[in-house]
Amino acid sequence: MTNQGIDTELADFERRARENQIRLNTDLKRSYDFIICGGGSSGSVIARRLAENPDCQVLLIEAGGNDEAESVLDPAQWPTNLGSERDWGFQAQPNPHLDGRALSMSMGKGLGGGSSVNVMVWAHGHRSDWDHYADESGDSGWGADAVQAIYRRIENWQGAPDPQHRGTGGPVWVQPAADPSPIAGAMLDAAQELGIPRFESPNGLMMAGEGGAAYTDMLVRDGRRHSLYRAYLRPWSDRPNLTIMTNTLVHRILFEGRRACSVEIERAGDIRLIGASSEVIISTGAINTPKLLMLSGLGDRSELTRLGLPLVEHIPGVGQNFQDHVAFCCTWEYHRPIAPRNSGSEAKMYWKSRPELAAPDLLLCQAEFPVPSERTGALGVPEHGWTMFGGLAHPQSRGRVRLNSSDPHAAPIVDANMLSHPADVEAALACVQLCRELGAAAAFKPFIKREAIPGEGNPIDYRFVRDAAVTYWHQSGTARMGRDDKAVVDSTLKVRGVEGLRVADGSIFPTVPTGNIQAPCAIVGERAAQFIRDMYHI
Ligand SMILES: Cc1cc2nc3c(=O)[nH]c(=O)nc-3n(C[C@H](O)[C@H](O)[C@H](O)COP(=O)(O)OP(=O)(O)OC[C@H]3O[C@@H](n4cnc5c(N)ncnc54)[C@H](O)[C@@H]3O)c2cc1C
Repeated sequence: MTNQGIDTELADFERRARENQIRLNTDLKRSYDFIICGGGSSGSVIARRLAENPDCQVLLIEAGGNDEAESVLDPAQWPTNLGSERDWGFQAQPNPHLDGRALSMSMGKGLGGGSSVNVMVWAHGHRSDWDHYADESGDSGWGADAVQAIYRRIENWQGAPDPQHRGTGGPVWVQPAADPSPIAGAMLDAAQELGIPRFESPNGLMMAGEGGAAYTDMLVRDGRRHSLYRAYLRPWSDRPNLTIMTNTLVHRILFEGRRACSVEIERAGDIRLIGASSEVIISTGAINTPKLLMLSGLGDRSELTRLGLPLVEHIPGVGQNFQDHVAFCCTWEYHRPIAPRNSGSEAKMYWKSRPELAAPDLLLCQAEFPVPSERTGALGVPEHGWTMFGGLAHPQSRGRVRLNSSDPHAAPIVDANMLSHPADVEAALACVQLCRELGAAAAFKPFIKREAIPGEGNPIDYRFVRDAAVTYWHQSGTARMGRDDKAVVDSTLKVRGVEGLRVADGSIFPTVPTGNIQAPCAIVGERAAQFIRDMYHI
């Protein structure tokens, strides 16, 4: 087909999809078979997979708007979404382990959720993560081999063929960073100088052993962001059985006895109930999901009593087990400016803070610009420079999300509690030391003038890591899957103690995956949809 033919077909699809959604939104039904709350990374996958059956009436409800904006679609512009209307703008509580610092905890708001505002890095997670989830849940379907088969099915991989780990026929277009910056290549060379192996891709073999370094795999297609909404949901938005409501807040889930039967929603000031004849699926992300569960009467009894909320089921683990990758930014000044390319992050590394570890406990991304914290900026931010965003892949610290109010509009309290565990401080010091050694490698000499942060001669100590700590925005774990009393969902993601309700998003991970988490969230979406299809024979 000619370019003009493709353009006409695309414009035709967009018109059809727009008219379809206007029609469906105008004639809302009183009840749908499935209601998915949240149109982010996992929610986009679930809605598409359920709507593939034309006999299923699917409603997806998203609090934010659409993704038609250059700030979303142009990969270089991702930082401009931070603090915008596309960001929930959460802020963690002041943390005594960070000398009272209250970290920003951005999360995406709008179709695609995090996958519409993130850095577009695609990371499968480590084999040991998935095998751990299989152990915790008692279901080998969460194990690395089973999950690998899902990745093969959903990917449309554009890099060197690797049929054991990568697929080419799926909806998710994944490509190695195109024409990466020389500074990304220098990082891979520097890693090799330190004895850290280099791989063709950061997924596949590299995530089966002790780690390594590689150019980043990205969700970018034809130079534009390819969010999980774009990969899964948008191509299905012209279907008559898929209603996508945007700018609509889910207040709470309502129950008949122990069965979830409807959702209370608010759109443009209008509050109404919509019924779910089969199931409600909560995919509102690791901060909003525990909030929505608690507002719906599911949580710790004392927590709900504190706010006068009626209890449906005492589930003490709701909001507990909060995890995130904490990162420490080290910055070098360029000899001569090098403009960032792609999303400005094109090299990845996973490595170990201690040689005896079998799997990586550190994750490092390069940023092709300075990224100081509000404290380390005082050490002097070079006008032109690059950053090692080194972080803890397996933090031991655990935080908590609690309600601030029974008002659905109120932000919850996020006690991220980073660096509260002494082992994390030790790993953090090793991480920053590794960053410093990378920056000092011969491979970087042609590009850099000096280490700006922490700064040559400055010690790497507790004070530095405490002041440098920022989030990788990988909030997770607050409605954890498992078999013990503190678990919130079972191996099929059903919320314990009630019927007709699942949680499927980054909240369910028992431990945060080793790498960036949108790909694991896509797996959660795929598995949730499969559980539902199996249960209802659809
Ligand atoms: C700045 C930034 C950079 C990141 N970089 C990367 C990266 O490069 N690679 C990577 O893998 N990960 C990255 N992440 C993390 C990743 O994008 C998220 O962890 C992932 O998208 C989480 O998926 P989820 O399905 O759990 O939730 P989300 O994708 O956050 O989706 C939740 C959705 O639910 C909606 N919602 C919430 N509450 C309600 C409600 N009450 N009613 C209706 N809708 C509601 C939200 O608006 C949102 O759209 C980044 C995140 C951020 C913020």
